[in-house]
Amino acid sequence: MDPVGIFGGTFDPIHYGHLRTAFELRRKLRLSEVRFLPNGDPPHRDGAIAEALHRLGMVKAATAAQPGFVVDDRELRRDGPSYSVDTLLDLREELPECSMCLIVGMDAFLGLPKWHRWQTVLKLAHVIVAHRPGWQVPDAGPLGELIKNRGTDAVDDLHSERAGRIYVHAVTQLEISSTALRRLIGRGGDPRFLIPDAVRAYMHEHNCYPLEKSRCK
Ligand code: ATP
Repeated sequence: MDPVGIFGGTFDPIHYGHLRTAFELRRKLRLSEVRFLPNGDPPHRDGAIAEALHRLGMVKAATAAQPGFVVDDRELRRDGPSYSVDTLLDLREELPECSMCLIVGMDAFLGLPKWHRWQTVLKLAHVIVAHRPGWQVPDAGPLGELIKNRGTDAVDDLHSERAGRIYVHAVTQLEISSTALRRLIGRGGDPRFLIPDAVRAYMHEHNCYPLEKSRCK
């Protein structure tokens, strides 16, 4: 079986930066699927604005028409903080033989040494790092070392081994962030062409970002 892509995020809201990244990496890495996992209570950041149920609804709306995109709500069903290591342990039981590719943006990768049991993360999955605008690939420190020791440019390595490699890939740079979208919506702006129409429609229908709440973040 081809490797499975695992793409976690707050997705508050999901946008074309996420979707294009997943689409390009699925093709480039020959992933059987990309699983989108909206997180419940993210340990490294402030709480989300939209309710978990609606963040999940927006991810479903965004991915419904795309073959190979799968939504996985396990982190929302779990109590307590959403640690990637717990999710990967869970997935490993379901997919014992499968290569797993954890997709993160460069900003998230730079925080890897602070993740709960991050060394175990690398025993469970490869880490695929998507370049984001304005972020540099580390060439020194623990992450520089990690890239030196475990980095690969060969997609075949991600197929022949189940975990443990770091693969850095420049995806099309779309300077979109959920923070900027929430600010835009908070000012009464329209996120059209930054997010899929289906997400925009969902957002309006469920009033996911009431003006008074979005204004503060
Ligand atoms: P926020 O602005 O609220 O921090 P975000 O836009 O970074 O949100 P997240 O849900 O936190 O979105 O991101 C999930 C994952 O997607 C992270 O690994 C992040 O680095 C990555 N990501 C987010 N936006 C982009 C983008 N424009 N291009 C590539 N990767 C992205």
